[in-house]
Amino acid sequence: MTPMTETELRAWLSRAAGRPVTLRMNTNSSSIVDVRNGRRRGELKASVHRIFLDAPPEVLAALAGFMRTPTARDRAVVRSYIAERHRDAPERAVRRKPRRVRTLGEYYDLAPIASHVNESQFGGRLEYSITWGRRPQVRPRRQTNITLGLCQHADRHIRIHPILDDPDVPRFFLEYVVHHEMAHLAVPARVCGRTGRHHHHTPEFYAVERAYPRYCEAVHWQRKNLDRLMRKWCRSTGRSKPPPPHQRFFQLSLFGSS
Ligand SMILES: [Zn+2]
Repeated sequence: MTPMTETELRAWLSRAAGRPVTLRMNTNSSSIVDVRNGRRRGELKASVHRIFLDAPPEVLAALAGFMRTPTARDRAVVRSYIAERHRDAPERAVRRKPRRVRTLGEYYDLAPIASHVNESQFGGRLEYSITWGRRPQVRPRRQTNITLGLCQHADRHIRIHPILDDPDVPRFFLEYVVHHEMAHLAVPARVCGRTGRHHHHTPEFYAVERAYPRYCEAVHWQRKNLDRLMRKWCRSTGRSKPPPPHQRFFQLSLFGSS
């Protein structure tokens, strides 16, 4: 079998993991596979030993699975390949940095909110993890849009923008955003057979979204208050410039990534 080049392996892993992968090949024996979340949305940063360049397909599939959501089987396949190719590799050489999860904000605790939404709207059947996002470390630039919530299907992880951890945000609105992201977990994306694109906001999805009891009120609240909230956020963080007064903030479609 011809070994892959680094570029080929990166492209292959990005496709198989369903997320953009930044790949660094290493030759050290202390960290043979190390995967963590990158700074950009959905991005994975991986450092992988060169022995994987000529790994058989089933090992590469397990490596991609391991990067997406590690299962015991993926771990075992990757470990046994390392043991076979790299006899003195220590056990701890395979690492997947655990996710940082922070549910307790300054004003709102996401844990009881998410569990209430799950119980009352989804019969308590959804498995998920949820966290407040980090305050963005962005250079001052003009920002006119925002993504309030993000759902990563691969590991059933929901991230809520910290702008909503604010006493001016009513609890029902925060619940609505959490409900929207949870609906992404409940309604799988539709894959277009021709282009392979994932469609998240399908009619089935919207039907579930609208079932949120205070849906109309939430949409109305957002329309009325998002701009004010964003300007307050810009002032308090000093990290981004608000748009000029004639230009209003808009909400990027609440997003579910696959
Ligand atoms: Zn969405």
